[in-house]
Amino acid sequence: MADYQLFINGEYVDAQSGETFTTHDPATGEAIGEIAKAGREDSVRAIEAARKAFDEGPWPKMSGAERGAKINEIADAIEAKAEKFSEMEARDGGGTIKKAMFADVPGAVGAFRWFAKLAIEEADEVEVPGTPFPPSQNWVRYEPHGVTTGIIPWNFPFIMAAWKLGPALAAGNCAVLKPASFTSITALMLGEVFQEVDLPPGVANVVAGPGGTCGEELAVNPLVDKTAFTGSTEVGRRIMQLASGTVKPVTLELGGKSANIVLDDADLDLAAACVLWGTFFHNGQVCESGTRALVHKSIYDEFLSLLVDRAGKIVIGNQMDFNTDLGPLVSRSQVETVERYVALGRDEVGEPICGGHRPEGLADGLDAAAFYTPTIFAGVPNSAKIAQEEIFGPVLSVIPYETEDEAIAIANDSIYGLAGGVQSSNLERARSVANRMRTGTVWINDYHLISPERPFGGYKQSGIGRELGLNGLRAYQQVK
Ligand code: NAP
Ligand code: MG
Repeated sequence: MADYQLFINGEYVDAQSGETFTTHDPATGEAIGEIAKAGREDSVRAIEAARKAFDEGPWPKMSGAERGAKINEIADAIEAKAEKFSEMEARDGGGTIKKAMFADVPGAVGAFRWFAKLAIEEADEVEVPGTPFPPSQNWVRYEPHGVTTGIIPWNFPFIMAAWKLGPALAAGNCAVLKPASFTSITALMLGEVFQEVDLPPGVANVVAGPGGTCGEELAVNPLVDKTAFTGSTEVGRRIMQLASGTVKPVTLELGGKSANIVLDDADLDLAAACVLWGTFFHNGQVCESGTRALVHKSIYDEFLSLLVDRAGKIVIGNQMDFNTDLGPLVSRSQVETVERYVALGRDEVGEPICGGHRPEGLADGLDAAAFYTPTIFAGVPNSAKIAQEEIFGPVLSVIPYETEDEAIAIANDSIYGLAGGVQSSNLERARSVANRMRTGTVWINDYHLISPERPFGGYKQSGIGRELGLNGLRAYQQVK
């Protein structure tokens, strides 16, 4: 029996093949669990359970208030196990325990609570007054799609699980979730929570296994009514193709190469903090990371020295230690990807002004092959590959500019459009720059703050649709 089993139709089960795969703590390389390895047949079983739960079960027939109450119970039950969820989230993916305790677990709880609130408060039917065809009457209804599936990445596994299941359940759908193979533990642990709160069987199912089999089935299966994916742009395109066979609506949250524009009137201390936090939080393994800093020429040299000075103070180490700022990347292969891009950067623009190597002098037991130092390239032309392609690691490109128009043109010169930042002491000016950026989110004098109450998603090849906010609920509803 696997340590972590699939959660299908209200029960924990092994994969039908009996196969398992091993998940590791990337900091030490230690195996931390055997996970049931779902194949297509297990995804089919989970989809059929969700289909039955939707077509015959109580969940879609319950009132929004009843569903909201149940989703709040899910949030309560997660909070009661917050310590365990935080520990496993940090160990499995390599994010710091600080991130797990202050962002991942409360972020997931917050998302469930937000969608519970919408389920309770948002009317699922409104009468539209003033018909053009008297004496007829008109109503608009918001109804669940039916069976929804969600496929999520390894960088924020627990929050992503909540972003998919929260709105799906709030709207009355029955759902199947597939976590990333590097980080399946906390999503599978959600099954215990669903059992504790007596969620009806089949309403929420979790299958872990390879994207190419278990994952593809979730996007292609004709019993599925809607699919949502967060991950790379490349796989996002594949999901669209698979979903097109039965014309399923898709929500896609994909890659990014976000620009953080530092205007000449910025508070440089605050701006440097926002640029570093915006890039290096979670080792840059964040889709909306501000990995291009666009800096005005008049403050360029002073700003670079602030960045280098502060980047040198970032503490790298064991992610389970509360004093650590940056733990390992998710895997050795992710570090190798970063190394390839840093080598490319050396060819394209020369030596980085800090970082550019694995850390030395790590504590005993830590595997240096899983870590990388915060790395900054200066004087990067926006046409360079390191400024155009998503690295998903701790690498910042600093790009000088002269005029505001030029900064905006550089920011928008990207196939992506997920997010961005503007650093300025003039809010009106910052907002006018933000309004011209072709992205789904812009932070002013800050970065990375995401609230479940505000919509999130991307322009261009960063995705389709929005999660969170009221838009996030609507994405899981049909309109009649
Ligand atoms: P990925 O390779 O695209 O994988 C994401 C998920 O898709 C995983 O669960 C993966 O399963 C699965 N998958 C892979 N191939 C599949 C296929 N052919 N059919 C169905 N599912 C498949 O991305 P990742 O490397 O995990 O995550 C990094 C990427 O995610 C970055 O590009 C980042 O920008 C993006 N991201 C975007 C957001 C956002 O909100 N926009 C948030 C987080 C991450 P396996 O793990 O088994 O391969
Ligand atoms: Mg792992």
